[in-house]
Amino acid sequence: MKPRIFLSPPHLGTEERRHVESALATNWVAPAGPHLAALEAEMSAVSGVKSALCVSSGTAALHLAVRLLGVSPGDEVFCSTFTFVASANPIVYQGATPVFIDAELRSWNMDPALLAAALAERARQGRLPRAIIVADIYGQCAAWDEIQRVADLHGVPVIEDAAEAVGATYRGRWAGGFGAVGIYSFNGNKIMTTSGGGMLVSADTALIDRAHKLATQARDAAPHYEHSELGYNYRLSNVLAGIGRGQLSSLPQRIDRRRQIFDHYRSALGDLPGVGFMPELPEGRCTRWLTCLTVDPAAAGINRDDVLAALAADNIEARPLWKPLHQQPLYRGSACFGGEVADRLFAQGLCLPSGSAMTDDDLQRVADVVRGVFPRP
Ligand SMILES: *Cc1c(COP(=O)(O)O)cnc(C)c1O
Repeated sequence: MKPRIFLSPPHLGTEERRHVESALATNWVAPAGPHLAALEAEMSAVSGVKSALCVSSGTAALHLAVRLLGVSPGDEVFCSTFTFVASANPIVYQGATPVFIDAELRSWNMDPALLAAALAERARQGRLPRAIIVADIYGQCAAWDEIQRVADLHGVPVIEDAAEAVGATYRGRWAGGFGAVGIYSFNGNKIMTTSGGGMLVSADTALIDRAHKLATQARDAAPHYEHSELGYNYRLSNVLAGIGRGQLSSLPQRIDRRRQIFDHYRSALGDLPGVGFMPELPEGRCTRWLTCLTVDPAAAGINRDDVLAALAADNIEARPLWKPLHQQPLYRGSACFGGEVADRLFAQGLCLPSGSAMTDDDLQRVADVVRGVFPRP
């Protein structure tokens, strides 16, 4: 059996070990300590988003975000349909109802025109959503100019789910800073990892202060344990924040390598009939967290599942693109505006191994397997 090639394994440098050792040496082995504040400050500095809070996962950050915006039972929250399930679950944690919005082909993110139509319809009905959750998928920012314009028109706050887009930019600004509040994931498969972890970011410092309180069991200021509202234990360990600091210091090189990997695949496979690669909005710079492509069976003579099967047979991990949330059994019966674009991406799309530690030989091995599935011309 050939060695396994994983989809997106962690890629550690040398700084991670140094920071973890300093946490151990100084006994800061707790969800408190200097690496947490340092990671928050370093992230704010590079992202340009004023305030940041380390938390235990991207999902926890999203839960805090919906809670902070007052999402409660009876509310509707609009959400991208073409995303991972964690984008929408926190809506349900709060007892509210998700309404899904389709993707656009330009970015594979939420379609701003469809969002405008959905908001206009709900405005006419006198029941605007409490918030809009927009995911920046596969390392690419959504069309933020258009999305912010329509959201502002109706005064509905936006949560930016930048879990997959740490380090991506749009008009030179970092993903995470476009909504009222943004979140990152540092899960093991993401471009920057703490093994598991996440972050909440906002220009609104008071909002982040409030999130800090909610994430630490909503403890009131008192010498004893005093609680007047419901909180959570969503803190990140100081040891893990040390890993995050190391990861952040090499993030620019990691992004460059993932973009090179994308370019390598595109030049090796872009001539195949029916193959299309995920587009990049001209206003933005995608991190290419995962290289994503689509296979149109009518033009290719084979389909996406044939490619996945050949890769699996060669011990290469690859995945279909996200199954749209409106198609998930969990969300059956939820309202969805559009859906055909996400459905087509799911039917035809896959992600290729994209870890930044992959060698050029690894890339060639993957590309050769993919090419081998297509009929010879
Ligand atoms: C990974 C991911 C999350 C959740 O992050 P965790 O850290 O795994 O909880 C949320 N949204 C999207 C789009 C993701 O890809």
